[in-house]
Amino acid sequence: MEKDPLRDLRNRNLRNIAFITVIVILGLILLQSWLGGGKTKNEIQYTLFTTLVENDQIVSVSIKDNRAEATTVDGGTIFVQLSPDGTSIYMPLLEEHGIQVSFEPATESNWFLTIVISLLPVLLIFAVFMYIMRRTQGGGALAFGQSKAKLVRPDTTKVTFDDVAGLVEVKEEVGEIIDYLEDQKRFSRLGAEIPKGILLVGAPGTGKTLLAKAIAGEAHVPFFSISGSDFVEMFVGVGAARVRDMFEKAKASAPCIIFIDELDAVGRKRGAGLGGGHDEREQTLNQLLAEMDGFQPNKGIIILAATNRPDVLDPALLRPGRFDRRILVPYPVLKDREEILKVHLRGKTIAEDVDTGVLARQTPGFVGADLRNLCNEAALLAARKNKAVVDMTDFEEATDRVWLGLKRKSVVPTEKERRITAYHESGHALLGHLLQREDRSVHKISILPRSYSMGVTQSLPLEEKYLPTQEEYKNELVCTLGGRAAEELVFNEFTAGSSSDLRDATSLATRMVIKLGMNEELGPISLGRERVDVFLGEEIVKSHEHSEEIASLADREIRGLLIRSYEKAKQLLKKHRAALDRLASEVLKREEITGSELDALFAELMPAPAV
Ligand code: ADP
Ligand code: ZN
Repeated sequence: MEKDPLRDLRNRNLRNIAFITVIVILGLILLQSWLGGGKTKNEIQYTLFTTLVENDQIVSVSIKDNRAEATTVDGGTIFVQLSPDGTSIYMPLLEEHGIQVSFEPATESNWFLTIVISLLPVLLIFAVFMYIMRRTQGGGALAFGQSKAKLVRPDTTKVTFDDVAGLVEVKEEVGEIIDYLEDQKRFSRLGAEIPKGILLVGAPGTGKTLLAKAIAGEAHVPFFSISGSDFVEMFVGVGAARVRDMFEKAKASAPCIIFIDELDAVGRKRGAGLGGGHDEREQTLNQLLAEMDGFQPNKGIIILAATNRPDVLDPALLRPGRFDRRILVPYPVLKDREEILKVHLRGKTIAEDVDTGVLARQTPGFVGADLRNLCNEAALLAARKNKAVVDMTDFEEATDRVWLGLKRKSVVPTEKERRITAYHESGHALLGHLLQREDRSVHKISILPRSYSMGVTQSLPLEEKYLPTQEEYKNELVCTLGGRAAEELVFNEFTAGSSSDLRDATSLATRMVIKLGMNEELGPISLGRERVDVFLGEEIVKSHEHSEEIASLADREIRGLLIRSYEKAKQLLKKHRAALDRLASEVLKREEITGSELDALFAELMPAPAV
């Protein structure tokens, strides 16, 4: 269930009101006892006082604020609250007994007290208001409209390019910015224009924030960071005020870097979206645009912004003079993953057997944040097991955790399901072993249930690091369909476990036929809607109109390719049925086979990789 933030806010405010009331009352009590300090001792009742007067025990009385301080015959002092009905009640009695009476003016502090008490409701309302302000923006009580930008001073920035692994081209690209921040005069003297705004485009966790920090660290300049979502508040005008405030602060500490994370939160196309409530965001965006236009290029402020969705940004943000430079922060490839792992293994005690190369191979699709997570998780696992060092088994387990979610040990698949899964995965693996290049051979088969799949067979993605040939694409199709082929061959039925394989195979076949020209009748042609990489920010562009005839020919080609691949998978598995059975039974027995064990098993099953 979603939390209702407003309700949350109200609850907190109620608690705050109660808290403030208690504080105020306590304060008043303190004030009262301070003003009337000491006078509560020797307090007697009015009736006792009159008795003392009647018995001539009182010498003199000093009256102030309807209270009497009386001196007794034996020199003591007593206090009494006099009758509220005024002097006419007790004066005759005092006079009758010849007591000296003096009056003192009422204390001014009581006036103060009266004022405080009468102002109490106003004070309370004010206090509540201040608390609401605080809650809505998290800053100090008076920080309404101030930006929430976090400032990292150069002397505390410890992030450098050393902490950023991989991203070689990106680092080269931003080198110029560092030079500029270090010595702006040199640039302005030559009239060189440095971009004001740079958009870092890439998936979450690929290191955009890290990179921005490292730029600031390398250039030894302050680093302001704020998230686009921090600008978006429920009160109209607050976001704009914060933008203004942030730029003011930045100008005061130039040269510096402003880093806006999640730019899309504030920079979406104006007028887009459903329903109302966009006034605030549009005002904020307008303010941001105005501020960016408002300072001269060579003022020493560089704005870096990060987004995963450049396609939804308002075009105005991307105009010259704003975020007109774009840097793509890519997913880390194999080599980079290894580098990133090394960065995060610094300072951890790891066993000799930990091979970052193998780990990098097992983690295609992981971004920097995932890899850091992996290293952390491995260390935690080792610690939980009281190990002295983190070893490879910890990393293997951590990989599974991070990638596929925690193993659901409690969910036990039926024996039949386990058998089907074992054959399915063995089908993929065996064909992979037969058809794939040596360096991307299968490195893991597992039938341990995961959070979203029954089993897994891992090998390196085809297009990871080289240019595959048509032959390799075709083999990839055969391997992808191998799971379903094994199911059909052995059990003569299909399960839902093949649906993602079918989807992958279909999209690969489609790509081959209409994009890569790997077809028989269609020829070297690229068809259909071109989806330009969203990271380059273009919308989907229709590149080609084509006839119905060509479309149906393409469909036939795709289908033919899939059917032929599937037949080939079945036929190969039939031929190697004995190996398939052995492999499946080993998998069933061991649940998970990886790395060198798997290599050994394959070597035993089929000594020569003959197709
Ligand atoms: P983004 O801003 O792109 O979402 P972050 O910069 O916040 O990603 O990355 C999160 C964390 O992941 C970083 O603090 C860092 O520990 C790790 N990380 C990401 N990319 C890298 C990298 N290239 N080298 C080293 N660590 C990285
Ligand atoms: Zn499969």
